[in-house]
Amino acid sequence: MESTQKLSFLLNDKNLSEELKSIAQKVLNDQRITFDEGVYLYEHAELGYLGVLANYIREKKHGDITYFNRNFHIEPTNVCVYDCKFCSYSRLIKNRTDGWEMDVDGMMDIIRKYDNEPVTEVHITGGVVPKQNLEFYAEFFKRCKEHRPELHIKGLTPVEYYYIFKKAKLSHYEGMKYLQSCGLDSMPGGGAEIFHPEIREKIAHDKCTADQWLDIHEQAHKLGMHTNATMLYGHIEEYWHRVDHMERLRTLQDKTGGFQTFIPLKFRNKDNQMDNVPEVSVIEDLRNYAIARIYLDNFPHIKAYWAMISRNTAQLSLAFGVDDIDGTLDDTTKIYSMAGAEEQNPAMSTKELVDLIKHVGRHPIERDTLYNVVTDYNEVEFEEENPKKQYYSLPVVN
Ligand code: SF4
Repeated sequence: MESTQKLSFLLNDKNLSEELKSIAQKVLNDQRITFDEGVYLYEHAELGYLGVLANYIREKKHGDITYFNRNFHIEPTNVCVYDCKFCSYSRLIKNRTDGWEMDVDGMMDIIRKYDNEPVTEVHITGGVVPKQNLEFYAEFFKRCKEHRPELHIKGLTPVEYYYIFKKAKLSHYEGMKYLQSCGLDSMPGGGAEIFHPEIREKIAHDKCTADQWLDIHEQAHKLGMHTNATMLYGHIEEYWHRVDHMERLRTLQDKTGGFQTFIPLKFRNKDNQMDNVPEVSVIEDLRNYAIARIYLDNFPHIKAYWAMISRNTAQLSLAFGVDDIDGTLDDTTKIYSMAGAEEQNPAMSTKELVDLIKHVGRHPIERDTLYNVVTDYNEVEFEEENPKKQYYSLPVVN
């Protein structure tokens, strides 16, 4: 059944509450849902219902297209001046001998390792240490661009920038402008966590505030950069905190239009100060993707990090509003594995990513960072034999 038919079918369901019917009608009419309706969805909507709405929006925006890219990560350090309670990755400065701190030469060695690889993006993020300052990143971005001008630098988050710009006595705008002139192309979405101070102060009390995070993105957008946004969900927040988080993003997006992708990040409880907090279920993951797709009507893309939620859940998420499952990664990030993700050495070949997408009936497109099409893999046949197929059914109502 087409996604539009499924939505019409749902609207005729006599057992559906008036509230859920009204939200479904809004989705069909391309109208925005309110804050209260967002909370209502979290509190009352079942997975099947959410899947129909989110998939309708996803297919209206992108059809069956599912994006991925060929990228690698550089994590310059996992030592950090901050002390986020959910972080499994960082080592405090006093324990810095347990971690790693790269210099610019070391980071350039990683860049050169990919000289003959068809990657389009380097994603840079990590901890915050004083010596990785403005000059450090200015030099790295410049050398990276001199070496490989076409490689897109998606670098750092407002957590790092807030610290770096404050030390350099630059405004957010001046700092972003300077680093853009050195080669920075765009910004990933990390560091957002949960914006509301009631939660932020408990889980990430000492790093940039929500307003500072949002302002740095706004300044980047003013400079013509595209950026992403994340939300760390499934810990001590309540549903309305999630909606508040998305509301702030939706408001900024109305103003600037600079966000490309929203990426919900699942809280994992391994080896951090919140290891007593249970993780949410896969059903809650899927509900969360779907509500994000419904609420963030002005965000072009919703992404699931396959390395964080597992390959199978990434496949499922494609029926719940997700249209992007990130990149090949090439085992270059430790952020997810150190937090207890299923993928302990995250790397997928292009063939594996393409197969993963095709096996749930979607259309794989390799994109660059800005969603330009690099290769359409729908008709491409790889030489090796395909692995065993895995099928998942789409959400069914009644
Ligand atoms: S989440 Fe980021 S800012 Fe917080 S402690 Fe970990 S590395 Fe540092």
